[in-house]
Amino acid sequence: MTHLIHRDLRCTPPAAVCAFGMQVRDKDGNTYLDASGGAAVSSLGHGHPDVLAAMQSQLKVAAYAHTSFFTTEVAEELGERLAQDAPGDLNYAYLVCGGSEAIEAALKLARQYFVEHGESERRVFIARRQSYHGNTLGALALGGNEYRRRHFEPLLMDVARVSPCFEYRERRPGQDVHEYTANLLQELEAKIIDLGPQHVIGFCAETVVGATSGAVPPTPGYFKGVRNLCDRYGILMIADEVMCGMGRTGTLYAIEQEGVVPDIVALGKGLGAGYQPIGAVIARDHIVQRLRSGSGVFQHGHTYVGHPVAAAAALAVQKVIRRDSLLGAVTVRGAAFKRMLREAFAMHPHVGDIRGRGMLLALELVQEREGKRPFDPDLHLHAVVKQACMDCGLMVYPMGGTIDGRRGDHVLLAPPFIATEADLQQIVARLADGLERAFARVR
Ligand code: PLP
Repeated sequence: MTHLIHRDLRCTPPAAVCAFGMQVRDKDGNTYLDASGGAAVSSLGHGHPDVLAAMQSQLKVAAYAHTSFFTTEVAEELGERLAQDAPGDLNYAYLVCGGSEAIEAALKLARQYFVEHGESERRVFIARRQSYHGNTLGALALGGNEYRRRHFEPLLMDVARVSPCFEYRERRPGQDVHEYTANLLQELEAKIIDLGPQHVIGFCAETVVGATSGAVPPTPGYFKGVRNLCDRYGILMIADEVMCGMGRTGTLYAIEQEGVVPDIVALGKGLGAGYQPIGAVIARDHIVQRLRSGSGVFQHGHTYVGHPVAAAAALAVQKVIRRDSLLGAVTVRGAAFKRMLREAFAMHPHVGDIRGRGMLLALELVQEREGKRPFDPDLHLHAVVKQACMDCGLMVYPMGGTIDGRRGDHVLLAPPFIATEADLQQIVARLADGLERAFARVR
């Protein structure tokens, strides 16, 4: 036991002493192949020389500058880069220190947008039932993950909920996918009307769902429909791209593949790729213009927002992604990876679905494939899988989601974009081994 508080208070995880490329080594000399980028973070792998060099030179220029006194060249350049590469007129960036902070800032920006217009009665956010948007109180309130919320329910603001877009679990057998999507959009519209559009601030969803359900892409036309409804009823569309953004699905912003422009996008994880804690909120012109011509102030801020070393790391990550054509690599290697997973697991009796986009993929684990019956939640299969894979020298990111009150388990795979074909083959081999050990442990 140590003096440090770990998430699991009954045990101390192995100490990482060296991380390089696709590998992490612990104090006891065990090495792990990083198939999840930690929690879908390390998109460039570990110890990338360009990022380290950029951070070092920024430390010499200015390690810290409080944003009430100064901006920095590096933060300005990052903002410009993020805006330039964003779709449509998502032209403004606000830099924070991680994903939850990005969501908090997005919620406050959205609320202030309406308050500045004299619409203070807008108080409600709509989000989806099976969702996760972060662990601070505002972000936790937004998310529908019952497991994470349960201790804090009385402290959380009210959020209206609609069904997730989760084809594997929620589309009825034989139901046409367009009909399924249309039903989801009807449900959202009914919710807006029921709440009264004049009370609604916005709708927030992950473009491709990460941890809660395991790499779930939207159905075709879903986000186009969401955008139309937001426009029709004058509410804001907020895309949570903390996990799926910054290239993980093959485009810098995952929403680019949906052909719509949200009003606000939240970023984290892959933005700093693990080299520094950094997140961002990207907002469209009309959002910022309203605040600028109103109070002139965004009523928000933390001591470390716009941190220059974090900005230097994130900027270097962006440059490497572009220079090394990593978005293309994510698309090509991601497709190859999915094929390998299908070859290895498509017939597996306990693998119900293999899904995802780019380098954000997942296997859904089921007790029985036909009925998609999840494993007994008391088995904590996801935790068993995680340990079994660690025993095989593999880092994956398994999770148990909440499905209609029952829990289902999936394994999220989010390897660094630099993974070679050989790395991916090695991941699949070790995963097969880890899964067999895990199933044997719960049988
Ligand atoms: N939003 C999504 C979709 C996430 O997956 C996460 C973290 O897993 C967050 C927000 C919160 O980010 P962070 O843990 O960096 O605060």
